[in-house]
Amino acid sequence: MRVLLIEDDRMVGAAIEQALRDAAYAVDWVTDGEAAIHAAEDESYEVVLLDLGLPIADGREVLRRLRALGRKLPVIIVTARDEIEDRIDGLDLGADDYLVKPFEIRELLARMRAVLRREGSGSAAVLSNGKLQLDPATRQASFFGETSLLTAREFALLHALLARPGTILSRADLERQVYGWNEEVESNAIEFLIHAIRKKLGALAIRNVRGVGWMVDRSS
Ligand code: CA
Repeated sequence: MRVLLIEDDRMVGAAIEQALRDAAYAVDWVTDGEAAIHAAEDESYEVVLLDLGLPIADGREVLRRLRALGRKLPVIIVTARDEIEDRIDGLDLGADDYLVKPFEIRELLARMRAVLRREGSGSAAVLSNGKLQLDPATRQASFFGETSLLTAREFALLHALLARPGTILSRADLERQVYGWNEEVESNAIEFLIHAIRKKLGALAIRNVRGVGWMVDRSS
């Protein structure tokens, strides 16, 4: 799951970036409004975390322009401004949720899961294609009675596949979902993760389409 983090405070940004990576998100972090808008135009994100006080273009302007792109993209405002006017303003401009600093990272993660649930098909918290189940809250996966706790990266990879059952994802597709901009990716990293997941859940959990990529079966 790819997240765009828009935050100009270096310390706050670094802390959120690390926490999100630990929680299996691929994070791209930008520190001003203009860079945020360019990033959102170029890449596809599943959720945006937006600070309001930003250089060059402030958070309201960013939100206005994100909404003008017309894409369905969940935005959570994460800011120190706790005045009621700012909250109302942000929500009216099309933010999906609002979190005031300081906050506990657990709450941010729960709110992200909630907006992603609302975005996704139905309100099911657990992703499933009928055979494979994946719980974003606990990172537990099960396949034909085999239940296992996944690492952050294993989770991110399986989540990407289970979000599009029946669709073949290439190595590049998967790398984009598992790794952020500044992360180094070993050439065999994706194969390594697939191997680890199969070892935990069984070889049939993920199908290999030779020379093209990987997929999980469509819901049956
Ligand atoms: Ca700021």
